[in-house]
Amino acid sequence: MEIDLKKLFQSDAFERLNVELDLSGVELGGAKPFCAPVRVEARLRGFAGSVELSARVEYTMSMPCDRCAEPVVRDYTKEFSHTLVRESQEDTAEFITVPGERLDLDALVLEDLLMDSPGQFLCREDCKGLCPSCGKNWNEGMCACGAPQTDPRLEVLRQLL
Ligand SMILES: [Zn+2]
Ligand SMILES: [Zn+2]
Repeated sequence: MEIDLKKLFQSDAFERLNVELDLSGVELGGAKPFCAPVRVEARLRGFAGSVELSARVEYTMSMPCDRCAEPVVRDYTKEFSHTLVRESQEDTAEFITVPGERLDLDALVLEDLLMDSPGQFLCREDCKGLCPSCGKNWNEGMCACGAPQTDPRLEVLRQLL
């Protein structure tokens, strides 16, 4: 979604946006996490030559658990703010250049979400993962394949050595 900022760059106008973005085609680590529409509530205010954007983003991420590959679905709410400028300065987290006074809202929101996304997705903190030998999900019980299973107590000792 593109937003024309011409009016805002020229005055101290104020605009409120309430939109849903479709980011369902975005891939992250082989998965497409944004299966549901991303809801954006944004406020835009013009200042002499720049536009202040603050946004509240509500979204759902669906990612496979890093250990057991079961889908992990979580809802998030994030708040972002940026200063939008016309002149091509170097983009930083704070200053975003908008060529042609048009803001690509999808691209900006996506960047914010990805920058903020957790480095690890786990179905639960203590997910036991899959047996490396037979692939059984150890959260559902131990397998019978005979793969050596480390005793968590010994594991702690081993890490101290
Ligand atoms: Zn898991
Ligand atoms: Zn096994």
